[in-house]
Amino acid sequence: MRDKFIKLSQIDTSEKYLKDINDKEFFGFPIEPIVKAEERLQNTPSIAYFSMEFGLAPSVYHTYKTVNPISPLNVISNHEVFSNMKDMDYYHSLPFNKILDLPIYSGGLGVLAGDSLKSAADLDLSLAGIGILWHKGYFKQKFWFRAGGQVPEEISWDPDTYPGLVPLKNVVTINLSGQPLKLKLWKYYVFSNDLKNVVPLILLDANLESNPEYFKELTGQLYRSSNAWIKIAQRMILGMGGVNAYNSLKYSIKINHLNEGHAAFAFVEKAKHMAPDSLKTSFAYTCHTPVEAGHDRFDLKELSMALGSDGIEIVKKYGRDSKNINIANLTQLAMSTSAHINAVAQKHGEVTRLQFPEFKDKIQSITNGIHTFTWLSHSFKELFNKYNDDIGDWQADPTLLKNIVKLRNNEEFRRDLWSAHQVNKQRLAKILEFWYFDANTFTLGWARRIAPYKRPSLLLQDPNRLIDIARRVGQLQIVIAGKAHPADVPASIHMDEMLEKITLLNGERKLIRICFLENYDTFFGKLLTNSVDVWLNNPLPPFEASGTSGMKAILNGVPQLSTLDGWVVEAADKGIGKIFGYVPPSGEIGCEKDLKLNEDSKELYKNLEEMVSTYYAKDHSWVDMMINCIEQSAFFSTHRMIREYNEKIWQST
Ligand SMILES: *Cc1c(COP(=O)(O)O)cnc(C)c1O
Repeated sequence: MRDKFIKLSQIDTSEKYLKDINDKEFFGFPIEPIVKAEERLQNTPSIAYFSMEFGLAPSVYHTYKTVNPISPLNVISNHEVFSNMKDMDYYHSLPFNKILDLPIYSGGLGVLAGDSLKSAADLDLSLAGIGILWHKGYFKQKFWFRAGGQVPEEISWDPDTYPGLVPLKNVVTINLSGQPLKLKLWKYYVFSNDLKNVVPLILLDANLESNPEYFKELTGQLYRSSNAWIKIAQRMILGMGGVNAYNSLKYSIKINHLNEGHAAFAFVEKAKHMAPDSLKTSFAYTCHTPVEAGHDRFDLKELSMALGSDGIEIVKKYGRDSKNINIANLTQLAMSTSAHINAVAQKHGEVTRLQFPEFKDKIQSITNGIHTFTWLSHSFKELFNKYNDDIGDWQADPTLLKNIVKLRNNEEFRRDLWSAHQVNKQRLAKILEFWYFDANTFTLGWARRIAPYKRPSLLLQDPNRLIDIARRVGQLQIVIAGKAHPADVPASIHMDEMLEKITLLNGERKLIRICFLENYDTFFGKLLTNSVDVWLNNPLPPFEASGTSGMKAILNGVPQLSTLDGWVVEAADKGIGKIFGYVPPSGEIGCEKDLKLNEDSKELYKNLEEMVSTYYAKDHSWVDMMINCIEQSAFFSTHRMIREYNEKIWQST
């Protein structure tokens, strides 16, 4: 089996990696499903899934084992906390001993891509992902205690000792600005929940001895360049390098699925060898953003120098910006060269059709999801297993969780549900014990990328109003986390404002305990969404295409306090919490600059007060709300989402 595996996988057979691979196992996981997946990819029509980022975190799902020592660079040992108890921050940080997330993602888009691979494995599809090995990751967030604000630090990690990540013998070449750029390939296998199936993720790496220095850096930091040539080169690596990688591995690709427009040059590479119009049926594209600035645009002259003459002709034919003929727009390119386009929630579909009317007939909506087994807490796994007879085999099909409603009037179940939540909350309280968190105080969570349209500082607009709620209705605990893109000036300003407001709450620590956790990652994403009492989600509608963190919360019975945007629109009338705030007139996109902080924060406080009051009343309606949340979570899983991709896109292409 080992020899067969080595032959099929093209793995670099240096001694170090072979120590973790034997006839039965690959880094402690069964090797047979890998062999099966590799054979199938080469011999049957398969799906290529391109994405600039992939969120995969062994700290929360399937931890590979290795006999080799892991570099300390790949381990996270502590996080700092910024709170309204400065002395605690000074004396304590959060001690951890966890393996770093594979540092090739920045936020929700990457997490979705990672969850999609896992569900493709659960559903036993013949699919392989392609991405980039970012050897400096995204960035590490540090707080600057005295001055406020975040300080971005470079990540250094060690791909050579990252468990499960293996280099291949293959090297592929693309032509960049008239020069050959060589790309080394790596593989990371993503197992299904039951360990019976596998989906490989191929990663492209420009950091090769034989490349010129300025080429090696191209796969350095994710999303960290403002230089157009570097951005173009990175997109050429993903799209064109990706196509060449699949060829070099002899994978038989029938469908090229582009997760965002970053990989649109895949079409350009293919069109060099085939009539472009005949290629279209093999491309599909998922659009993730309703924000104008989210679509990549490049000057055609600049692009021409990087792509060369045959490439640029294809871009000119299919990818000119509709408003400026001297500009290439990768969204336009991806849309006009794909047979299927999908938006990531129903509402986002409407907005996308308004933004791109010429493609409206091919734009469908497939609402995002999350990978159930990754985001489900241990205590809820046990709870669902205990009630398996009523729920059904939810591990084989997580959409069966909708059967949870059968247990609505079962008193024992209701008590067990509350206890399972308290187990999670006690764990969070224990982690934050130096900040005096306890498991019986109402706890609110907000964590995601600090992007202006997500309105991170909405909750902190009026700290006095929070004090007022805590005094009249009951004490509050608030946990916040998130990174601002270092070049995003408005986002950094929001971040500074938040840290200042937290300091303002210094004198009220008896009533309110508020913590901002440094360096948000998947581990915290899971911990916080699993453990708080209410998950806050307050983007400015309609700019949140979908959002997924709230889906992680409802799966664990955590109600929402949310604006009417993204996925929430599809569950807003199902009793999953409180929905508040501005709603744009239908048929309009509106302006993402007018954040409506004043009026929406007032609404937020009013609804928060009602939720805090219901929580402390220990009224049965709270557990009803938790049950509604779990019922709705059955739909918002990547199991359902990937099944829809397969039925509506991949099989019908
Ligand atoms: C789920 C998740 C996100 C996405 O959160 P949104 O609410 O969709 O913005 C971002 N980062 C991490 C680490 C996550 O786990």
